[in-house]
Amino acid sequence: MKVLHVAAEIYPLVKTGGLADVVAALPVAQQRQGLDVRLLLPGLPQVLEAVQGARTVADIGACFGAMRVRLLLGRLPGSLLPVYVVEAPYLYRRGGGPYHDDRGDEWPDNLQRFALLGWVAAHLAGGDADAQWVPEVMHAHDWHAAMGCAYMADHAPTGAASIFTVHNLAFQGLFPLHDWPLLGLGSRLMSPAGLEYHGQLSFMKAGLKFADRVVTVSPRYAREIATPEFGCGLDGVIRGRGEHVTGILNGIDDDVWDPARDSALVHRYDAARLQGKQACRRALQAELGLQPDDAALLVTVISRLTQQKGLDLMLAALPALLQSGAQLAVQGTGEPALEAAFTEAQRAHPGRVHCFIGYDEARAHRLIAGADAIAVPSRFEPCGLTQLYGLRYGTLPIVRRVGGLADTVIDDAGPGPANGFVFDAATPAALTQCLLRAAALRQFPEAWRARMAAGMGQQLSWVGPARQYAQLYAQATGAPVARA
Ligand code: ADP
Repeated sequence: MKVLHVAAEIYPLVKTGGLADVVAALPVAQQRQGLDVRLLLPGLPQVLEAVQGARTVADIGACFGAMRVRLLLGRLPGSLLPVYVVEAPYLYRRGGGPYHDDRGDEWPDNLQRFALLGWVAAHLAGGDADAQWVPEVMHAHDWHAAMGCAYMADHAPTGAASIFTVHNLAFQGLFPLHDWPLLGLGSRLMSPAGLEYHGQLSFMKAGLKFADRVVTVSPRYAREIATPEFGCGLDGVIRGRGEHVTGILNGIDDDVWDPARDSALVHRYDAARLQGKQACRRALQAELGLQPDDAALLVTVISRLTQQKGLDLMLAALPALLQSGAQLAVQGTGEPALEAAFTEAQRAHPGRVHCFIGYDEARAHRLIAGADAIAVPSRFEPCGLTQLYGLRYGTLPIVRRVGGLADTVIDDAGPGPANGFVFDAATPAALTQCLLRAAALRQFPEAWRARMAAGMGQQLSWVGPARQYAQLYAQATGAPVARA
C-alpha cells in the first residue's frame, strides 16, 4: 500500500503542537509494518535545510502567486523516509512560524500557501506530479493539508482514496469568500454544501466534506465533535458524515519518549528500576530552584498557555494546591495574561512555583521525568500527548474527563486499573478537589506506585494505531484488510 502523508509540521523541524509529533512518528511506524510511505511538506526553511539528497521531480512553474514552484524529492534525516517538498520561495521562505509571523499575526497569504500544498498533494495522488510513484492513499493532516481532499474530489476520478485526520477542530483555516477565485476550484464547491462556511471559506470543511474517511485523534473526540458543544460550528457537517468519522488514538514515539533511553535525562529508569526517577526529581528541583522536599507532590504543566488548556483553572486552584504542601513547575508559551499570571505566581511563591515561559524540548523531558504528576485540565482535548508521556514516565496525569484525556487516563472506578486522576467539571473547585486527592494519595507510596506501574505498563506505542490506520486505508480503497 502506497501512502502519502501531507502536513505542515514535522518534529523536530517544524512544531507548534502534537501534530508535529504524530507526523514524525506515524509514517515511520507504518513503514516498519511494510507500507510504502512518503511525506509531502511545504518548503519552509527548516525543512529545505534538513532534507538530504533532494532532486527535482517536477518543475511546476508559476502558481498561487509564486513565480517559481518546484517539487523536490529527498530523504528526512534520521528516519530516511522519502519526502516530497514543495519549494516555493515566495510563499514559504521566511522567518516566523509556519502560520504566523513573529508578532503572532497570521500570514496574509496563508490561503495560497496551504492551497498550494493541497493542490500538489492532489497532483501526486492523480499521478501527474511523479509518474514513478503514485499513492493509493492521500492522508491529509489538519486544515493545512485539507485542500488536497477538495482538489481530488474536484478532479475525479483520482484512483487514490483520501483520508483526513483532524488534530484540532478549533483551528479551521478560514479565509474571505472573495478569495475563492485564487483556488482554481469548480464553482459547485463554492456553496454551503462545499467549502463555504457562514460567508467565509473553510479549509477544514474541505477535509470534512470531501475526504473518503475522516479520523480524529481519539474515539471520544470523534463523538464529541458531532455535538454543538465541541463541534466548533461544524457538528452538523460531522454528523452528516455518519460512520465515516471515526477516532484512532495517537501513540507516542518510543524512540523519543522512553525513560530508559532518554538522552535528555542524566538518570534513566524504567518500571523495574525507579531509583532513576527519584534522582531525576531531585535534579529537577535543584535545576528549577524548588525546595528539595521529597514529600511534596511535584506537579508539572507543559503546554500552550491558552483557554483551551484550562490553565486559568490551574491558577485558580494554585492557592489550595500550595496549601497542601505541593510544588508546581510550568513550562509554556501562549496568552500574555496567562504567561504573566504564572510568572507572578513564581515571584509570589519562590521555591514552590517555577515558571519557564518558552519552548524547550529537552527541558520538557526533564520536567516529565522529574515531576510526580502532570496536569492537563483542558476544556477540550482532541487527544493530548503530554498525559501519554506522563503515563510512560510514571508521572501520574491529572486530567479533565474530555476527549483523548478521558480515553487514556483511568481513575478509581474506571474501566481498568487506575493510572491517574480525572475530574469532570471545568471549574476551579473540581480541579482543586482532584489535585488535593492526588496530593493525599502521594502520602501512600504503595498506592501511588500502583498507579505508576499501571501507566508505565501500558502499550502506548504507534504499533496499534498504525495497524488501525492500515485497516482504515484498506476500507477506503477497497483493498483486502491487512492481517496484523
Ligand atoms: P497541542 O497539540 O494541543 O498543543 P498536545 O498535547 O497534543 O497539545 O501536544 C503538545 C506537544 O507540544 C507535546 O509534545 C508537548 O510536549 C509539546 N509542548 C508544548 N509546549 C511545550 C513547551 N513549552 N516546551 C516544550 N514542549 C512543549
